[in-house]
Amino acid sequence: MMRRKGFTERFRSHHDAKRELRKLVGADRYASRAEPADLELTLDRVPRTEQRAVYLHVPYCDKLCSFCTMNRCRVDESLRSYAEELDETIAARSSRAYINATPFRAVYMGGGTPTVFAPAELEVVLSSVRSHLPLADDVEWTIETTLHNLTDEKLAFLVEYGVNRISIGVQTFSDRGRRLLGRSGSGEWAATRIGELREAFPGSLCIDLIYSYPDQSEDEVAADATAAIACGVDSVSLYSLMVHDGSALAARIGDGELRFERTTEWDRVRHNLLVTALRDGGFDLLELTKMARPGRDEYRYIRVRYLNGDVLPIGQGAGGRLGDLELHYSRAGLMIGRADSRHDRYHLFLGDLQFGRYDAGVARARLGDEAALRVEHALPEYEAAGYLRRGASGALELTPDGVFWGNTLAVDLLGRIIEGNGAARPAPSEERTV
Ligand code: SF4
Repeated sequence: MMRRKGFTERFRSHHDAKRELRKLVGADRYASRAEPADLELTLDRVPRTEQRAVYLHVPYCDKLCSFCTMNRCRVDESLRSYAEELDETIAARSSRAYINATPFRAVYMGGGTPTVFAPAELEVVLSSVRSHLPLADDVEWTIETTLHNLTDEKLAFLVEYGVNRISIGVQTFSDRGRRLLGRSGSGEWAATRIGELREAFPGSLCIDLIYSYPDQSEDEVAADATAAIACGVDSVSLYSLMVHDGSALAARIGDGELRFERTTEWDRVRHNLLVTALRDGGFDLLELTKMARPGRDEYRYIRVRYLNGDVLPIGQGAGGRLGDLELHYSRAGLMIGRADSRHDRYHLFLGDLQFGRYDAGVARARLGDEAALRVEHALPEYEAAGYLRRGASGALELTPDGVFWGNTLAVDLLGRIIEGNGAARPAPSEERTV
């Protein structure tokens, strides 16, 4: 039984699963270098796909969270001109054939904190996206925000320009947890503010929660699930705390100021508490890190990425793909490489697994008969090990344990398909994860 045997390593995020997939197929991030002239050529071509999204990055925050090492810095005077820079970039890109020939199905404004702009600056950026870029009539338009940055005035702009999905970094409703993670305001204030946003915002209201932070009790986990359900949010993203080198939290732990030791089992218990409570509260699994009320969140931006779609990157820190070019705008400038297509077909199936589609028919459609056979062999093992179970419709669905181990399962299954072996190895009973 696989659960008794277990896995030696839990891949926590889709980044881990993608890295492992690249290793399995021997693909590099870039198949070869490319030059700005290659981008110019691409921009004059006809788009290769209708799966298209925009990713716009705002690398500024007014308060830095203790756990975060994302591409962001504290706001300074350069923020004022950044809205104009974004507007100019969007306008310049929009004049090119590759950009304006086909509508974008999703826009994702991430960061940092895109709502850190003053209202007038935020309006410049929203207006630029709306007026310059071809957007599908039913475009999914997401903006990330913190609660303290999203004023009523800014919210009105979001609704006016067509933003229909707000992703809020709440992390926890526990006052102690919020202080530890560097979040502003109390848990009660956060819940009240989300309730107000729920009244005012008709689109998808999504929040992030972090579990397994230092000394988080099971009661705190349960209280987070209860508060999320009561606030009326549409989806909840669940992330196990990662302690990244370079974060303030890692420094406190490294200095011995904060004690933080945990096992995979400690992590699993907190994860499963959240997943089970949200399921009981009317949420279904949408994707390995996301539970949603039925029909209230599609997460189309990520689906486009898993479909190997085009993603137009805008702004410092943004990455994307146009045609066969992978692009990344860093502080040092634009990095361009040719996409390594060896992993694309498997990446499609990885996307299916991320959205919980454990199905030999899906594998056959993506990868052919031999892959489907390997999946048919693996599924009963996963079911016997407690990672999958039959749902009401008769289809296999991930159990809470299956969701917890979801990225590891995906790597295991891809390993069986690509190399004829998986990632399952005997595990020690108490694996440390920090
Ligand atoms: S978690 Fe979000 S709000 Fe906090 S520092 Fe990182 S990007 Fe900024």
